[in-house]
Amino acid sequence: MSNVFSSSAASRFLRYVTFDTQSDEQSKSYPSTDKQLVLLRQLVAELQAMGIADASIDQFGYVMATVPATPGKEHVPPIGFLAHVDTSPEVSGTGVRPIVHKNYDGRDLVLPDDPTLILRESDNPELADQRGNDIITASGTTLLGADDKCGVAEIMAAAEYLLAHPDIPHGALKIGFTPDEEVGRGTQYFDVARFGATYAYTLDGPTRGDFEVENFSADAMTLIFHGFNAHPGYAKGRMVNALKLAAEFVHRLPHHGMSPETTDGGDGFVHPHTASGGVERASIKLLLRDFATKGLDEKARMLTDLANEIVRPYPSASVQIERQESYRNMKVVLDRYPDVVEHAMNAMRRAGLKPRFRRIRGGTDGARLSFMGLPTPNLFAGQHNIHSRLEWTSVQDLDKAAQVIVEISRSWAE
Ligand SMILES: [Zn+2]
Repeated sequence: MSNVFSSSAASRFLRYVTFDTQSDEQSKSYPSTDKQLVLLRQLVAELQAMGIADASIDQFGYVMATVPATPGKEHVPPIGFLAHVDTSPEVSGTGVRPIVHKNYDGRDLVLPDDPTLILRESDNPELADQRGNDIITASGTTLLGADDKCGVAEIMAAAEYLLAHPDIPHGALKIGFTPDEEVGRGTQYFDVARFGATYAYTLDGPTRGDFEVENFSADAMTLIFHGFNAHPGYAKGRMVNALKLAAEFVHRLPHHGMSPETTDGGDGFVHPHTASGGVERASIKLLLRDFATKGLDEKARMLTDLANEIVRPYPSASVQIERQESYRNMKVVLDRYPDVVEHAMNAMRRAGLKPRFRRIRGGTDGARLSFMGLPTPNLFAGQHNIHSRLEWTSVQDLDKAAQVIVEISRSWAE
């Protein structure tokens, strides 16, 4: 049996990246930019051209479509595959000119529109696994948009492949393309019931074989220090400067560990990111991150104790503490549905890959969807150096991810 899987993922990808779909954090509209709708509408047209009759776009820009189950597999739970069309607001996505560097052999890849930009294996160890593959980069002035047009192209290619190969058994496939993931609003108006999938996968990750079933649990905290103001010429023994209380608090946070700049892997952190105020009142905003909710609670207690200790010597000072939930680790949900993980592992092995679990040190649309009732882990899509002008993927990774989608569909039907 031949091991070669050939899909339309790469040619689709090269086309989709030329659409400028940058999202905008400042925008109040949904989706945040109209230009995302151009690609979203194009995807509807392409899905319909494939013969998917129910492909549609709603008032928010969400594209949904169904590849019907093969005969006799109508009872299989409908499985969703999701990707986001928008690209990061941090780097230009206007006039993306994708370049295919054929048969990569370890050479430096120079981006012609800015020759100071060079993709080197020494800076990108993952390139070592791509020898013989065809690497795709942008030309030097823009990002590539691998995040997440890889996922879009792979899902489209897999749908096309399954429609062309009716001998591969599968239940209903639910396809979803979303806007505004990069500005944290990808699931804001997503209608889980209308989507109609029982379980889903986002294709929005890096390296071949990567499988993400865990993400940070996250809270936000605001500490407001209340001091006591007085005329500075006559303040002796009376003034309590809230600004100094807040500064003392930041200074006494752990100096080694428990910060974004000193942790990785499975370790969480506390992160003061905004300070404001004056003598009378000063506030510090913090992010709390941990893979366990218990760990978040411990961090919140540590911060509360520290703040109270700082105001204790001053009877006229006080601190007010607010804690808000941001998002939670989707593992809590996914642990209840082991099949979702099993079928993906099975599919990757069938595609000749060794699945590797990675933890996301952030949130994902899949995590939000998991808590909205749609368990949704994240699969690799072949994105590297995301949000950068040195972003890259490879033709073979695009194909591999499309193959994994096909194999997941088959696995659930068996
Ligand atoms: Zn992404």
